[in-house]
Amino acid sequence: MDNLRLDRARAILRERDLDALLVTSGTNRRYLTGFTAEDHAPDELSAVALVAHDRALLFASATNLPWAAAEALPGIEARESARPWTTTIADTINGEGWRHVGIEDETTTVAVYNRLRERLGDGVALVPVGGAVDALRAAKGVDEVALVEEALRLTDRAFVAAEGRIAAGMTERQAANIVREELRACGSEGEAFPTIVASGPNAAKPHHAPGDRVIQEGEPVIIDMGAVYQGYCGDLTRTVWFGQPSEQLVTIYETVAAAQAIALAKAAPGVTGRELDDSVRAFFAARELDRFFVHSLGHGLGLRIHEAPSAGPASSDTLEPGHVVTIEPGLYIPDWGGVRIEDVVLIEAKGARNLTSAPKHSV
Ligand code: ZN
Ligand code: ZN
Repeated sequence: MDNLRLDRARAILRERDLDALLVTSGTNRRYLTGFTAEDHAPDELSAVALVAHDRALLFASATNLPWAAAEALPGIEARESARPWTTTIADTINGEGWRHVGIEDETTTVAVYNRLRERLGDGVALVPVGGAVDALRAAKGVDEVALVEEALRLTDRAFVAAEGRIAAGMTERQAANIVREELRACGSEGEAFPTIVASGPNAAKPHHAPGDRVIQEGEPVIIDMGAVYQGYCGDLTRTVWFGQPSEQLVTIYETVAAAQAIALAKAAPGVTGRELDDSVRAFFAARELDRFFVHSLGHGLGLRIHEAPSAGPASSDTLEPGHVVTIEPGLYIPDWGGVRIEDVVLIEAKGARNLTSAPKHSV
């Protein structure tokens, strides 16, 4: 059986004239080998992979080996590694006679690099490949799109259920616990990231840890949440209120909703992440509100909650079919509060399809 992901990883070997590639990123390891174990810490990896032209090896400790072997995708050979695993990897590289070995320098620790360097000898070059494997994950296959869609369905269902239970008079922490309960009840594997419930002035902070503040009537409450399905992340932000919204809330909400509609309509193959972000920033600037839009418009998501492509002022990414990206404009007014609305779109051959179905407040 073919393993298209391995084929694409091997294109990196050919492009960079490498004999093999050492995969130390846990996300990339899962993507290429199918092994779902998470890493306990940067210095405690569950497994590492070596992808060569004619074979792909997944090295795990004796404890993890049966699990790794059971989950390994076609074309992946699970093997036992010694401790430290760098010994097994270096001996394999030397034994195979591989001379140019790519390393994921963004996730390889200095200690690992030094241990490999010491045991490999001078004949082997370790070549940094940066985020080359991460870049493979940006364009999703049909199977991955289905998993993201399911993660988003769970997220949307959990939001609707949670919103029906959250009320003024509760603390942010109580509201966040309700979101977590509903995520679990919908079948989510956990939280894609720590749930945000930010009320009133706390909503002026794009990221906020839910605390003891009691939600009041008429003020904005930002709820940002995501389910996980087979490792794939959902992401959703809605800004809600209880009772009558203040006049300022109505104005700000309508402005953010209009900005989001512009970006949703603009998202298409060939549009750069920067252009997409610009479309919203210019809309806010025309209303002298751009200084309150303090983050990027959106990010890719998949096995990680933040991955390529990015849609921000510094983005060098161009959207292409298969990209999954959030569109989440927000305005954050110090001491008052804020509004953020986030949907997730799939870039298709023409335009983009909104994968989010959670209702938006009408004002
Ligand atoms: Zn997001
Ligand atoms: Zn979000």
